[in-house]
Amino acid sequence: MDLSDLYKKAAAFEFLSVEEGVFLYHHAPLSDLMFIADELRKQQVPHGKVTWQIDRNVNTTNVCIANCKFCNFFRIPGHAEAYITDMPTYRKKIEETIKYGGDQLLLQGGHHPELGLQFYVDTFKAIKAEFPDIRLHALGPPEVAHITKLEKSTHHEVLKALKEAGLDSLPGAGAEILIDRVRRLISKGKCGAQEWLDIMHEAHKLDITTSATMMFGHVETIEERFEHLVKIRKFKAVNRKELTDFWHLLPGLSRM
Ligand code: SF4
Repeated sequence: MDLSDLYKKAAAFEFLSVEEGVFLYHHAPLSDLMFIADELRKQQVPHGKVTWQIDRNVNTTNVCIANCKFCNFFRIPGHAEAYITDMPTYRKKIEETIKYGGDQLLLQGGHHPELGLQFYVDTFKAIKAEFPDIRLHALGPPEVAHITKLEKSTHHEVLKALKEAGLDSLPGAGAEILIDRVRRLISKGKCGAQEWLDIMHEAHKLDITTSATMMFGHVETIEERFEHLVKIRKFKAVNRKELTDFWHLLPGLSRM
């Protein structure tokens, strides 16, 4: 494998394989990768605009039965510190969010064994009724999987009901590393890798915008990091624009 070939491939927006990603990880200088990433960014966003969204993390409940190894947030059912967020608390937090220019809630919580679909539908509807302009970036595939199991329903039905109740977009939460070996070690109570992807697929079919996360630096291997990225990349719509040649600008790599 040759670094310059991989740079050319990346510059042409061609997909790199897991093996190629691992090779870059071990051999490519960070400055080269940053340069290529910046050039690709400039081609995808030619007007140079940078945008952001101000949102606030609010948790629906800290009660959870998933028992992830890394989590210090959850409390078991019946614990003295267990809570379910009520409407006055949402109201206060949303008003503060709006005051500081925010327009979105990142609404997530634990896998509560008794909170089914109706609870989330009622919560979303109540928030939207009072704050119609607040966007709900809410739950994530593991929570959708949990609700689906509780309801003995389907991902499609659960997502459809959540969307109708006010869900604007589905965070890519709980992806950790989308490899079952890793998930079994750190978050056995969460849905497996394939179910995570299946739920995102259903969300896309319902026209729900999604994102993806990656939690790394624990038990995963470097190869598994790239397998995770490739799984997500295969899944997402990719804008394969023709790019102009910029690689010859890379200092010290004029042989390309
Ligand atoms: S599912 Fe979420 S809240 Fe529950 S233990 Fe895992 S990380 Fe914590």
